[in-house]
Amino acid sequence: AGGDHLHLSAYWRRWTDWVLTTDKRQRIRLAMAGLAALLMVCCLVVMNSVAAAGLASTAEVRVWTACSVLGLIAVYAAIRSGWSRRFKDPALTLAQILYAITCCVAAFVIAGPARGVTLPILAIILMFGIFGLTTRQMLGVLVYSLVAFGVASGVVAARDEPDYPPVVAAAYVGMVVVVLLSSTFLTTRVQSTREHLRRQKAELAQALEQIRQLATHDDLTGLLNRRAMLDRMQLEQRRSLRSGSPLLIAQLDIDHFKAVNDTHGHAAGDLVLQSFADTVRRNVRDTDVLARWGGEEFVLLLCDTPAADAVALMERLRQAVQAMQVPVAQGGQPITVTVSIGLARHAPADPLAGTLERADRALYAAKAGGRNRVVPAPCLR
Ligand code: GH3
Ligand code: MG
Ligand code: MG
Repeated sequence: AGGDHLHLSAYWRRWTDWVLTTDKRQRIRLAMAGLAALLMVCCLVVMNSVAAAGLASTAEVRVWTACSVLGLIAVYAAIRSGWSRRFKDPALTLAQILYAITCCVAAFVIAGPARGVTLPILAIILMFGIFGLTTRQMLGVLVYSLVAFGVASGVVAARDEPDYPPVVAAAYVGMVVVVLLSSTFLTTRVQSTREHLRRQKAELAQALEQIRQLATHDDLTGLLNRRAMLDRMQLEQRRSLRSGSPLLIAQLDIDHFKAVNDTHGHAAGDLVLQSFADTVRRNVRDTDVLARWGGEEFVLLLCDTPAADAVALMERLRQAVQAMQVPVAQGGQPITVTVSIGLARHAPADPLAGTLERADRALYAAKAGGRNRVVPAPCLR
């Protein structure tokens, strides 16, 4: 029995894959059309029962049935074949609703004393619209339905049916108007809720991006912060391990920076830090990564740069910093600073901490040697 069950479920799956396709959005469109078709089939049964009971003309109900079924087949074919993809709404919601309302109005005319059954059907058709149509489309549907039911009421009056007092006719028209107005109102509510959610989602995405920026970057200089830099180093380490390209780490520390603060104030110190960051960024490649390691210390990660080139690059960088002039208020002498740099090569399989420490020791040697200089770690010389 278990085998049979498996076989059956596989068979069912193949069948639904063929009917609904395997494309997720196509499946939703076709399933919605199928739901609408199911509703239509119920109406077909009701209308044919009404005709069988002698309340409606069998010939009229036959024509109505044929038109309704053809419409269902046409909608399925248009969606299933992919033809409807050329439209903005490949589910053809508006077309389906207008067609369904037309069928509903026709049923209203031919159903005789049973025409009241079309009113709940109209309400259900409009429910599809509440979720699938824009407010403007729904207003179009409202106008179309009012005109169609107006014409239908005229036709019914002209048919001069017995047992159809004017007060009942008026009650039906009144109910049609109520159903149409309330669904149009609900559509505007649903649309504004959707719009609200869309806006909220966009705002959340923006806030998340802001938080990400705050968590990974330094406020003053806009450079990566230490934590983000460590992540990035790990990434570059893995990349270098795969590609075999060299990875170099430089520690940069501004010389006598405390004196800048003491002489010109903390705000001027901040300005120097910003200018320093800009100068370094301008003098390295886009693929090199600069981070503010803390205070007036920076770390530079050089990817894919041979050691000899890196030493020359650091020397150019040192000169660029030395040439940098940071203007001060009240037209005084611009502030100048120098930088000491320690450079180390990272062996891909080694821990990063070791390389950072060697770069730091080289930096310490640069400070001890008189500052304003580049010192490569021993393995680089
Ligand atoms: P050395 O040449 O040995 O590096 O001397 P130094 O004065 O640069 O080094 P030290 O570590 O003694 O002083 C660093 C100073 O940097 C002290 C601290 O107040 C200052 N500092 C750290 N962060 C900031 C900041 O965000 N803004 C400003 N303006 N100053 C900062
Ligand atoms: Mg310093
Ligand atoms: Mg320092």
